[in-house]
Amino acid sequence: MTKEWLGGTTIFAEMSALAVRTGAINLGQGFPDTDGPEEVREAAVRALREGKGNQYPPGPGVPELRTAIAEHQLKRYGLAHDPDTEVLVTAGATEAIAAALLALVESGDEVIALEPYYDSYAACIGMAGGTRVPVTLHPRNGAYHLDLDELRDAVTDRTRLILLNTPHNPTGTVLTREELAAVAELAVERDLLVVTDEVYEHLVFEGEHIPLASFPGMRERTLTISSAGKTFSFTGWKVGWVTGTPELVTAVRSAKQFLTYVASGPFQYAIAEALRLPESYFEGLRADLRAKRDLLSAGLAAAGFEVYRPAGTYFVTTDIRPLGESDGFAFCRALPERCGVVAVPNAVFYDHQKQGAPFVRFAFCKRTGVLEEAVSRLRGL
Ligand code: PMP
Ligand code: GLN
Repeated sequence: MTKEWLGGTTIFAEMSALAVRTGAINLGQGFPDTDGPEEVREAAVRALREGKGNQYPPGPGVPELRTAIAEHQLKRYGLAHDPDTEVLVTAGATEAIAAALLALVESGDEVIALEPYYDSYAACIGMAGGTRVPVTLHPRNGAYHLDLDELRDAVTDRTRLILLNTPHNPTGTVLTREELAAVAELAVERDLLVVTDEVYEHLVFEGEHIPLASFPGMRERTLTISSAGKTFSFTGWKVGWVTGTPELVTAVRSAKQFLTYVASGPFQYAIAEALRLPESYFEGLRADLRAKRDLLSAGLAAAGFEVYRPAGTYFVTTDIRPLGESDGFAFCRALPERCGVVAVPNAVFYDHQKQGAPFVRFAFCKRTGVLEEAVSRLRGL
C-alpha cells in the first residue's frame, strides 16, 4: 500500500473492541468513564431546546465560544487574541491537527514530530504529502527527555514545521520552560512554524503548562491547538480549537471548511460556558487525576512494571521488561485473557518501532473503583 498511514484500524479502536469482546477493563483508549460537569451538560440541553446551533453554525465557530477561548488564553497565559480573526473552532483537536497540516505542508516538506507521537500526526502528515521526521524522547531515570541537540540536528532546509505536543501523549512528559525556550529559539533561528498540540493543558500534576506561543518570537509563528474533550471530559462532543495569527488561522480555516465545514453546534455554546467555570473546577479535575495517577502508578509498580510517572496527561507509560516481556504488542493482545485489563502498546506511536517495543500505556481517567479493580487484577500477572 502506498498510503501506509491509512493501513489498518487505529490502535484505540482495536483495543476498545478487544475490551468489549473480552469484557476486560479498558485502560487503553483515553476517554473518561464519567461525563463532565452537570451544568455543562445542562447548557448543551438548553442550547438544543433554544434552537442554538441546531443548524450550521458560523464557519469559524459561534462567537460566544470564540470569545470564551480568547478570554481563556488571555486570562491564563496573557495571550491576547482577536476572537474574530485569531480563533477557529474545529471538530475536536483531531480536525485542527489535520486542517493545520493540510493548510501548511506542501508535498515533500519535512515535519518534525516528537516520537512517540499521537497516531493522527503520522496520518495527517501523510495526507498532506509531507515527510515526517521523528525526534525521539528518551526514557531515563523514570521520565522521558527531549534531546535538544537531536531536535536541532533534525532541522533541514526542507523543514516546514515542528509539530509539538506538551503535555505529551503517551509519555506524560511536560516540557519545561527551558526546553520550550530552546524549541522557540530554534524555530525563530530557522524560521519555522510550530503547530503545538496542547490538549492536555489543564492536566498537569508537576511543573506547569506554558504555551509555546508565549515565548519571544513565537506568537507570529505558532498555531496552538486545544480541545474541550480532555478539559471537560466530553470526548464525544468533538469541540476543539486553534489560536494563532490571522494569516495562520485563515489558512487552517480554508482547509477546515472542506473537511467538516462546521461541527458540534449546540455543544459549542455549552463549552463557551464551561471555559468560564470557576477555578475550583480545574483544580478539582487536576486533584482527582493526580490521585488516580498515583493509585495506578503504585499498582503497576507493585505488579512489577517499571513506571514512568507522568507529570501530565491521563496516561502512564510502563516498561514491561521487568516482567520478563519485551513485545508490547503481544503483551497487550494477551493481557485481557491473562488478567482482564486492556492497555495500548507504545510501539504504534513510533517510526523506530524497536525503541518503543517494550513500552505499554495505561489510561487512568477512570473511576477509582475501576482503577482499584484493574490494579488488583494486574497483581496477578
Ligand atoms: N491530540 C492528542 C495528543 C490527543 O491525545 C488527542 C485525543 N486523544 C487528540 C489530539 C484529539 O483530540 P479530540 O478528541 O479533541 O479530537
Ligand atoms: N486520544 C485518545 C488516546 O490517546 C484516543 C483518541 C482516539 O480514539 N482517536 O487514547
